[in-house]
Amino acid sequence: MAFDIEMIKAVYSKFEERVNAAKKLTGKPLTLAEKILYAHLWDGTPETAFQRGKDYVDFAPDRIACQDATAQMALLQFMQAGKKKVAVPTTVHCDHLIQAKLGADKDLQAALNNSNEVFNFLESVSNKYGIGFWKPGAGIIHQVVLENYAFPGGMMIGTDSHTVNAGGLGMVAIGVGGADAVDVMAGMPWELKFPKLIGVKLTGKLSGWTAPKDVILKVAEILTVKGGTGAIVEYFGPGATGMSCTGKGTICNMGAEIGATTSTFGYDDSMERYLRATDRNDVADAANTIKEHLTGDAEVYANPEQYFDQVIEINLSELGPLLNGPFTPDLSTAVGKDMTEKAKTNEWPLQVEWGLIGSCTNSSYEDLSRASSVAQQALDKGLKTKAEFGINPGSEQVRYTAERDGILEVFEKLDATIFTNACGPCIGQWGRYEDPKNAPKNSIVHSFNRNFAKRADGNPNTHAFVASPELTAAIAIAGRLDFNPLTDTLINENGEEVMLDEPTGWELPPKGFEVDDNGYLEPVADGSGIDVVVDPNSERLELLTPFVPLGDTIKGAKLLIKAFGKCTTDHISMAGPWLRYRGHLDNISNNMLIGAVNAFNMKTNFVKSQLTGEYDAVPKTARAYKAAGIKTIVVGDHNYGEGSSREHAAMEPRHLGVAAVLVKSFARIHETNLKKQGMLGLTFANESDYDLIQEDDTFNFLDLHEFTPGKPLTIEAVHADGSKDIIVANHTYNEGQIEWFKEGSALNLIKKQNA
Ligand code: SF4
Repeated sequence: MAFDIEMIKAVYSKFEERVNAAKKLTGKPLTLAEKILYAHLWDGTPETAFQRGKDYVDFAPDRIACQDATAQMALLQFMQAGKKKVAVPTTVHCDHLIQAKLGADKDLQAALNNSNEVFNFLESVSNKYGIGFWKPGAGIIHQVVLENYAFPGGMMIGTDSHTVNAGGLGMVAIGVGGADAVDVMAGMPWELKFPKLIGVKLTGKLSGWTAPKDVILKVAEILTVKGGTGAIVEYFGPGATGMSCTGKGTICNMGAEIGATTSTFGYDDSMERYLRATDRNDVADAANTIKEHLTGDAEVYANPEQYFDQVIEINLSELGPLLNGPFTPDLSTAVGKDMTEKAKTNEWPLQVEWGLIGSCTNSSYEDLSRASSVAQQALDKGLKTKAEFGINPGSEQVRYTAERDGILEVFEKLDATIFTNACGPCIGQWGRYEDPKNAPKNSIVHSFNRNFAKRADGNPNTHAFVASPELTAAIAIAGRLDFNPLTDTLINENGEEVMLDEPTGWELPPKGFEVDDNGYLEPVADGSGIDVVVDPNSERLELLTPFVPLGDTIKGAKLLIKAFGKCTTDHISMAGPWLRYRGHLDNISNNMLIGAVNAFNMKTNFVKSQLTGEYDAVPKTARAYKAAGIKTIVVGDHNYGEGSSREHAAMEPRHLGVAAVLVKSFARIHETNLKKQGMLGLTFANESDYDLIQEDDTFNFLDLHEFTPGKPLTIEAVHADGSKDIIVANHTYNEGQIEWFKEGSALNLIKKQNA
């Protein structure tokens, strides 16, 4: 990691000067988030005080991380940029393409058999362009980043929404689409609207069954899935410093579930302990030299209302364990009676079939050790586990150390399946059912972050609840959703009533971390001789061809679908089995919008073609329009594109001829992704105009030739009976983004500039 420490020292050497310049310009003390942002301006020392939530600013991130599913398209795009090496330290992590089914060894081998072509492609592209490569089985991207690359005061971007996890180590770490990452890999600045700031003051202390996970489950309840949009959430106060570094990571991780740009914590002793425990004394020593700048100013934390756009206060001493779900991560229920009642009212199955511990959210050594302390009690007290257990360690380092320390053995004695160090069930890579669509209604509890329908196992009837690892373990043992470990007893094999004691565990392994092979491959110094081969007949990988600009006249575009309600990136570009085609744009486009609900018949993947009058699948209908040379429009509801950063959700519509996506509101990353692909991402100036859109509508853009920043576009919607409505559509395109549109995509513009 010698290269890293030099880079980190370079960042720190400029930190104080830039922070002081920003304080002078803004005339106020600064939050940590502001310090990091101002210390990473593309243009160096700050010369402008930016308006939060308004100004677009160019930044210079320190690192990039990509996971295997998104890296394929990102690297295919980077190959088009004509560069010899990545301009910024970058890593690729193979974690999404490994199914959880039979257990770690067999599942890893199956993944290697299934996806070798993709892993080989990623490894060779990484080697060629100077990218660090983490092999399949090395771990989940965000746990590996926290263990190896995250550093206090740093800025990173990653092609995954949960890149935000690195906020646990005091970073501003943001999930972006592959196209944004490609810009930075190619040596371009990374643009972001200067975020708003939400302060979360944590008082009191976590104890007993309450875990860091409960803090973010509570924040999700307060802010909802939209509440963090456009903002950085900064945690502070005595409750924050009292928590472990990986616990802070858990909280920041699920900031993605409230739509936040990212979340962060100030540098403190827990972070120093974690850096030293993960073999980074040099980083801790360097951070200590500028310690006072790696946290928000005391005056900010003393008067948060004055400096944040919104402030929330949570007393950790009063917080109890929560279960969030089903189907949305912001629906919070306290354990016990509240759950009994809610489950009854809503017909949620009370019997729990699986307890899954893992994902980037909760797969640290501390998480496994605390959950195993609960599992151990089942063994000690003669309890028979009612639900099945599945465990995904976060990294090989965590797994190896947990195995050495007997933690995994505890779960194994309970017949748990230890899956690969990978995402597995968290991303639908769970071989739970042969036929998930027709699988029965059931409940599961997991320590993951997301619980949208079908997310874990493809079964729309699975009710997934999110909880801390220790509560997940307790509920799996009890087999009941409404089990309250603080008050309820269980009957053991001898017929005796027993209670579970509070979980215990280790923040860090008492004997230190250990690993045999961490799964990392360093790229060669000169990769110019390395050939990257893509088989033209491959069904998994396809070299890209540039998108053709949409031009300044869009007339006669047809409505493809008017999506009703929640339309996440999972609905637009489903994961699960489709992960297979992440590197093949044409093949993966066959999943375009198949999860979106058609507002006219409330069915999924069933839309009317204006060419035939018949109803058919969305991708098929779109292909027919495209073949006929007709552009299409997608209309959507609120927070369209929430969920993940995958640019496939933008590339697929672009590939299949969608010219514009017109919605009530966007999730930030998806809106940017649409812009990057040279499409129109627009919002209704008047939300109720959504109701004017009819099934047979044709659209004419009346003033696209005058596309300029801040000026709404006017769209004429022509209905089947010939009547018309004028729709005013707002947009957030700045000058540069309008250039992307005019060139056909951001990548087309990069290529042009490189040439
Ligand atoms: Fe993997 Fe799940 Fe984390 Fe995404 S949220 S990186 S799928 S573990």
